[in-house]
Amino acid sequence: MSEDLFLKIIDRQIPADIVFETEDVLAFRDINPQAPVHVLIIPKVHIRTINDIEQEHEALVGKLFTAAREIAAQEGVAEDGYRVVMNCNEGAGQSVFHIHLHLLGGRGLTWPPG
Ligand code: AMP
Repeated sequence: MSEDLFLKIIDRQIPADIVFETEDVLAFRDINPQAPVHVLIIPKVHIRTINDIEQEHEALVGKLFTAAREIAAQEGVAEDGYRVVMNCNEGAGQSVFHIHLHLLGGRGLTWPPG
């Protein structure tokens, strides 16, 4: 049993609405969506925060973005526009300590975010 919530989703110990999966990456719908499309894209290995990303993870982190591109197309938001964001630590709103890209789309998005 893992104490990492997202590792439990990877291991299918808790359910999620999975929309995309590769050998290295999993993506599922956020349980508390902030936009019509709100998908979380995670690596299958545990990396706690952006501060813990090492050189050896560079290709893997790149795969989160290629997944975002594919999911945006799949969800029909690629042309209208979407946002990907990764919060780092509590001060930026990180609440699950396994890195994840939020992919948000399907509505107008303002800048700067709150
Ligand atoms: P962050 O606050 O950036 O760490 O984002 C964590 C996200 O995980 C939040 O948007 C939560 O709504 C989402 N979340 C928490 N638990 C689950 C879950 N079991 N399934 C899907 N999304 C979740």
